[in-house]
Amino acid sequence: MRILVVEDEKKVANFIKKGLEEEYFSVDVAYNGKDGYEMALREEYDVLILDVMLPYKDGLKITKDLRSEKINTPILLLTIKDSTGDKVTGLDAGADDYLTKPFAFEELTARIRALLRRKETQKTTELKVDDLTLDLISHKVYRNSKEIFLTPKEYAILEYLIHNKNKIVSRTKLIEHVYDYHFDPETNIVDVYINKLRNKIDQQPLKQLIHTVRGVGYILKD
Ligand code: CA
Repeated sequence: MRILVVEDEKKVANFIKKGLEEEYFSVDVAYNGKDGYEMALREEYDVLILDVMLPYKDGLKITKDLRSEKINTPILLLTIKDSTGDKVTGLDAGADDYLTKPFAFEELTARIRALLRRKETQKTTELKVDDLTLDLISHKVYRNSKEIFLTPKEYAILEYLIHNKNKIVSRTKLIEHVYDYHFDPETNIVDVYINKLRNKIDQQPLKQLIHTVRGVGYILKD
């Protein structure tokens, strides 16, 4: 699951990013409303977390403009205490929920899960390839009915490969998805994670699912 956080207070933004990554989400951050709006338009996210008070374009305006562009990604607004007006305007503008700052991290993740569950009622909550199953809400992974324990990054890579099953996924795409935009493209970090993943899910005598495409990237085939 991919989340965009738009928050101009870097400390808060990085705290949210780090926390959500530990909870198996992939997180992009924008530090102003204009960048955030453009990223939300360009990329596909599962949830958007928007601070209301932002430079260049505030969270309410972003919400309104995205909805008029027919982008229906669930939106969680971060408001400050006692700004009831913002909450009402935010929900009217098309936001799905709001959270008052300061908040407990557990509350943020609980609300994100609720938004995902609501969104996923129209969609499947499980991804399957051969005998490999991913539960998108609980983040549990099974191969041949046996639970496999993955780290958050391994999980994020596997989820992305399954979403794109039978398609070649380049290393650059994987880095963009699992890390943020400014990662060194020359790094071999993706290969390191793929090897770890293979050791966990592609053990003999099970059928090999992750295949290397020389010089390009990887493909997950059923
Ligand atoms: Ca702010």
